[in-house]
Amino acid sequence: MTPNQIYLPIDKLDTYREFSTDIEAQLQDFFDTPIGISALDENETGNTLAIHAPYSLLHLEVAEEYTGEDANFSTGLNNEPLYHYEKEKPLYAPRTATVGDQFLRDYIKNKLGKVTTPKLEESIIKLVTEWESKHVQQGEYQPIPFYMEGQKLALDPLKFTLAYLLKIKEEVLQTKHTGEINLVFHPDILFFLGNGKGNAVQKAARVLAKLSTQLGLNIVYENVVFKKESYKKALGWMEHPVAINELLERVGSTSGICIDIQHLSKIGYPPGVVLYILRTLRDKGRKLLIHTRKNMGIENDTWKKIVEEAYIYGIPIVYEPEMENA
Ligand SMILES: [Zn+2]
Repeated sequence: MTPNQIYLPIDKLDTYREFSTDIEAQLQDFFDTPIGISALDENETGNTLAIHAPYSLLHLEVAEEYTGEDANFSTGLNNEPLYHYEKEKPLYAPRTATVGDQFLRDYIKNKLGKVTTPKLEESIIKLVTEWESKHVQQGEYQPIPFYMEGQKLALDPLKFTLAYLLKIKEEVLQTKHTGEINLVFHPDILFFLGNGKGNAVQKAARVLAKLSTQLGLNIVYENVVFKKESYKKALGWMEHPVAINELLERVGSTSGICIDIQHLSKIGYPPGVVLYILRTLRDKGRKLLIHTRKNMGIENDTWKKIVEEAYIYGIPIVYEPEMENA
């Protein structure tokens, strides 16, 4: 990592907090635990802060009987149905029940007053209320470290994300940090926000861009890798920085892209192509960030070129710890 930046990975990734009946207490504990931003005060030269935001594992189900009418069936970015290619049956995000909603509501109300102006507070509440009235919770949004397998329970993705943004904002305000604040999200947050509907994914990208801009934070979407072939085919755009960029262009979002070069390598992109993508997105003026790992051979092979070029153009590089899915 360059000396002028600070990176905070997701805390305690290996210790899932199982959803319990006392989800409110778990949420309280999560939101009360500082994220480590105080480290900024020990490094006053750090002008770029990057934080890995929590992400949720995707859970799609195979529809054994498809009537073609069920509103629950999920769609891809262009509104096409998601198919399980081996079974040739549609996939869908199950309808879920929200948990911890009162906690998130209270938290948002409390923190908004502390980090924004009354006018902004009003506009943000309006945005959340409008979103809420239009979208039914679908998909088990259980952002790590919260997790409960197959329970069809979810935290409301918009309220959880907003609460998280407010937590970060409040913590940064308590430090001397005046530089950028980048929050790295996996694009599946848009899938959850849009309740698995292709056309809502674009609206979700707009809503998140608006919220983050109002709070003075940058959202950065990272290309991911899916293990399941069916997810790859259904939501493959999330694996490709160029496709993520297309989505952001479509909705006029200034959110950034985090190019995870190990993820690209895993899906078969050679270094030369990655370098080309980096240049293309940079030339389009897209805000960029790089995720890599020390053990990628970054010091001595062709990947080095990408890192060198990133340094030249001032693109922050984050050397991530070795973690699955990060
Ligand atoms: Zn990463």
